Amino acid sequence: MALPTKDQVTEALRGVIDPELRRSIVELGMVRSIEIQPSGRIEVVVSLTTAGCPIRSHFEQAVAQRVGELEGVTEVAIGFDVLSDEEKGHLQQTLGRGKLPQGALAKVKNVICVSSGKGGVGKSTMTANLAAALTAEGHAAGALDCDVYGYSIPRMLGVNAKPEVNGERKILPLESPSGVKVMSIGFFVEENAAVVWRGPMLHKAIQQFLEDVAWDELEYLLLDLPPGTGDVSMTLAQLLPQAKFIVVTTPQPAAQSVAHRGAEMAKKFDLEILGVIENMSGFTTPDGERFTIFGEGGGQLLSDELDVPLLGKVPLSEPLREHSDEGTPLVISEPDSPAAQAIRQAARGIIAATPQELPVLQATPTMAEMPPIGGTPLPVVQVGPTA
Ligand code: ADP
Repeated sequence: MALPTKDQVTEALRGVIDPELRRSIVELGMVRSIEIQPSGRIEVVVSLTTAGCPIRSHFEQAVAQRVGELEGVTEVAIGFDVLSDEEKGHLQQTLGRGKLPQGALAKVKNVICVSSGKGGVGKSTMTANLAAALTAEGHAAGALDCDVYGYSIPRMLGVNAKPEVNGERKILPLESPSGVKVMSIGFFVEENAAVVWRGPMLHKAIQQFLEDVAWDELEYLLLDLPPGTGDVSMTLAQLLPQAKFIVVTTPQPAAQSVAHRGAEMAKKFDLEILGVIENMSGFTTPDGERFTIFGEGGGQLLSDELDVPLLGKVPLSEPLREHSDEGTPLVISEPDSPAAQAIRQAARGIIAATPQELPVLQATPTMAEMPPIGGTPLPVVQVGPTA
């Protein structure tokens, strides 16, 4: 079988993200060497900022997984050494460029992208109601509408006003009657304009937008992503490597393969998937008879496949739709109805799965904060063989 080239291994390593510096180890210049043995054994040496780097095991796993996926690889061996002072200087320079500026989302503890494989599965409905439910549980939450194919978050949360700009030329989020901070890219682009944007233009617009909104202290910021894995989702995944994902799917097993593609993207960028929400999960008549209109089991299947929890099964519910249309989220207006209870349970699942303290690293470490170099190379760690 053909062996992968060094370039292919490098490409695979682009998917290995330093969880603290939030960049790929390739981009950060942390890949010291790549050796490809005729047997299919690939030896990768990763350079760390400090010898006692606590995220070594993260790199071990991530490198083994990415490289192990390449065709022809029989075994992955990973070694570590430490960056020289000069190399650390380069790293600092790299970190200074192109990222979201420090201030942008610094006061937001958890950024959560709500995604779906296709449109119409209730992703926006879940985003709006989850944000309202989190707020009702006493956790400051915001909802950001990034679904350029149809901005619905402000309407669903009952926000009609246009946002204002403060003295520092930052856009101020609006507040919904239920206390959710709301912002939509739709406020700033002409109707349907963003739909025809591609790649770089969209990327720039979204980056600018993320930088220009003055988010206050928030425990949760929920992003309503466009369906699928288009440019917007890719851009957000790159700009917000600390973001976590929730995948919304309908119960029919066929929908779950579509939803899976979105999850694949999250995996590719090394983003954490918090869980799956199955929406439109059966309909119960007032007499208590249940109809599985959109099939059954898709949410469980997807969460099993992704090895993440099924956060909730939200039934088909006319009041859920009506209240969305009226801008009065069901979780607030009828909190004890079955659909509201399922969404509130999902919100509690999110709370349980996210850190309550401030993130480990708000800012990138300065040179002064980096401990001195350890000197001798660290021992090679054997991982594998891979299948
Ligand atoms: P998406 O964001 O995935 O495109 P939406 O949240 O806009 O989907 O939902 C599509 C339509 O389905 C909306 O009219 C919404 O009110 C309705 N809807 C979503 N979930 C449910 C549900 N569980 N029961 C009834 N209607 C729902």
